[in-house]
Amino acid sequence: MRRMNVSDSVKVIRAAAFCIAAVTMLAGSRGSAQEYLTGIEWQKPPVVTPGKSCGDHPSDAIVLFDGKDLSAWKGGETWKVADGVATVGSNDIETKQHFGNAQLHIEWSAPTPPNGHSQGRGNSGVFFGLYELQVLDSYQDETYYDGQAAAIYKQHPPMVNAMRPPGEWNVYDIVWTAPRFKPDGKLESPAYITVLHNGVLVQNHFALLGDTPYNRPPQYVPPTELPVRLQNHGNPVKYRNIWIRELKEPQGKHVREPFMRQGDKETPVKQAA
Ligand code: MG
Repeated sequence: MRRMNVSDSVKVIRAAAFCIAAVTMLAGSRGSAQEYLTGIEWQKPPVVTPGKSCGDHPSDAIVLFDGKDLSAWKGGETWKVADGVATVGSNDIETKQHFGNAQLHIEWSAPTPPNGHSQGRGNSGVFFGLYELQVLDSYQDETYYDGQAAAIYKQHPPMVNAMRPPGEWNVYDIVWTAPRFKPDGKLESPAYITVLHNGVLVQNHFALLGDTPYNRPPQYVPPTELPVRLQNHGNPVKYRNIWIRELKEPQGKHVREPFMRQGDKETPVKQAA
């Protein structure tokens, strides 16, 4: 083993001094660091197990159609269920359960070969009660833009046309904020919708003007909680893998005013400012 010469000894002493200085600075900075605290005690967010693959329902989802039957829906008797797919029948169907704020996943496929044009081509619709997100075969076929696939019907076109060809599966992932009403029935807060069409953002927190009829301007009427409805528009559109999550805001309680903490000293933000 080589003996340390004077130069080596100096290097070792310098390294040790550097380490001591670093540790001292770190300890000092921790002691003097100022921290902002909100004064809110949050409840622990529930644990949810995500689906195994993209599109699979997470553990807290309500499965509305898993390919077997339409028992979660009213009016499904005229719809055909086969090979994991539900095909539009002679009437609309709507869920037995009603929903407020929700995340909805739904997959749909336009008839193939394609038949008809514009509003007559693969027309159906995903409704939150009175409010329609259009389902239409808009693949290389035009209609009025606020009536094409992923439009909020007669209110707002999608930002882009993300359609897949007829026969392929389209996916809507929807975030729905339900409208809220005052006790006298007047609108307190509009409905908002965000939609991803095949993973592409097409509606970004759009504030609806009201319901979405064909023949009059939109209007708002209670209630807040509504069924999910799938439209019969005379075209055999197919649906599969439909699930929904009820959305609940994180719960917290303001137990004190926001404050700054430095060591043992706590100062309300108002005084610290
Ligand atoms: Mg429609």
